Amino acid sequence: LFVPDQPVIPFIEGDGIGKDITGPSQRVLDAAVAKAYGDEKRLIWKEVLAGEKAYKETGNYLPQETLDAFKEHLVGIKGPLQTPVGEGIRSLNVALRQTLDLYVCLRPVRWFKGVPSPIRYPSMVDMHIFRENTEDIYAGIEYMAGNDKSKKFRDFLINEMGVDKIRFPESSSFGVKPISKDGSVRLTKAAIEYAILRKLPSVTIVHKGNIMKFTEGAFKNWSYDLAETEFKLQTFTWRQYEKIREEKGQLDADKALDEAKKDGKVIVKDCITDAFLQESLLHPWDHSVIATMNLNGDYISDQLAAMVGGIGISPGANINYQSGYAIFEATHGTAPNIAGTGKANPGSLILSGVMMLEYLGWDEAAEHVYDAMEHVFAKRKVTSDLHSQMEGATLLTTSEFADEIIKNMH
Ligand code: NAD
Repeated sequence: LFVPDQPVIPFIEGDGIGKDITGPSQRVLDAAVAKAYGDEKRLIWKEVLAGEKAYKETGNYLPQETLDAFKEHLVGIKGPLQTPVGEGIRSLNVALRQTLDLYVCLRPVRWFKGVPSPIRYPSMVDMHIFRENTEDIYAGIEYMAGNDKSKKFRDFLINEMGVDKIRFPESSSFGVKPISKDGSVRLTKAAIEYAILRKLPSVTIVHKGNIMKFTEGAFKNWSYDLAETEFKLQTFTWRQYEKIREEKGQLDADKALDEAKKDGKVIVKDCITDAFLQESLLHPWDHSVIATMNLNGDYISDQLAAMVGGIGISPGANINYQSGYAIFEATHGTAPNIAGTGKANPGSLILSGVMMLEYLGWDEAAEHVYDAMEHVFAKRKVTSDLHSQMEGATLLTTSEFADEIIKNMH
């Protein structure tokens, strides 16, 4: 990715608390870039419209100019957008992802010391979720019970595909779950390359292939083929991996991962989704990169976010690693209940900005923000979402929290 010293970064302010968190987040990122590179490098922010603000000014929730700006400048960032009701638009986020074919939803999950966590060893959490963003039951192919298409689809299944009609009463709704080889392979390839580049020890393929053999099972098989043939990696089934852990103990499982890490090799294993939801709580250290499909990824992202302080500080990005297009985004919604009150935590957008700096290759600036946030949390200075869970913590407003991060950049 060629990055000029002064890249233009299109940004969508977003609805609701988007207005509260965008300015403070940009201040933090600008301060970190200045700290790391002086006058040499600078982010040139360019506001593009979407959501309520766009509708008021242009009569369109997602103007073409906004899409064009992201296409022209490749890398951008966005606040949360309210999903318009009854306008025939499923979601602006989905529209953005589909237009730019942003097939990876990347969510890194790391814990900051001091932040309340429901798990026993939060300091062991360093997980990176690669969620497939374009396929699966989220593709939007659904037929409502009782309408014509649903009836036709039911007839097709019964008459053409030989499915027993007892399985589908007339009152059935249907959803289609497309999982393609190309879609699966490009997602897992991105996950494995990320693990190799960052020297992370393992990739866990999370699926429900025991039940959905030709969709989730195929995802697993294609992922294993890729790992073995293209990357020449060692693969374990979950049972094999668990056996090492059971028979030789956790230390040996750790050792296997450490060995892999030393050799710059990544272990690829799989885990059934329901088991993974337990696994990630009990043995988070056994899973560093997680590659999975859309629906699993959605559930897993929120569970893992809750393990390290919630959506207020969980960053995310939607990326097409082939074209380079990337939109970094706060993972939470517009939080209308606290908009304009100074209660919003800008952490999610700030950390998404940190991911953006890393994507641009500006690691020193990213580290400044990250280290400063560690200091601020360690001093127990937090916004209201975390304050209520932390006895004796100091309550800061959205803007004060951003200022505190800037003050702690050393
Ligand atoms: P939400 O994330 O807006 O709010 C859920 C809860 O979390 C609320 O109590 C809210 O106050 C709190 N919260 C969220 N972000 C916070 C932050 N940064 N700091 C402190 N507290 C925070 O979810 P919702 O209420 O289900 O959705 C509201 C709107 O946002 C809907 O229109 C939805 O479609 C949209 N949405 C957008 C995105 C996106 O743009 N990526 C994501 C999710 C929801």
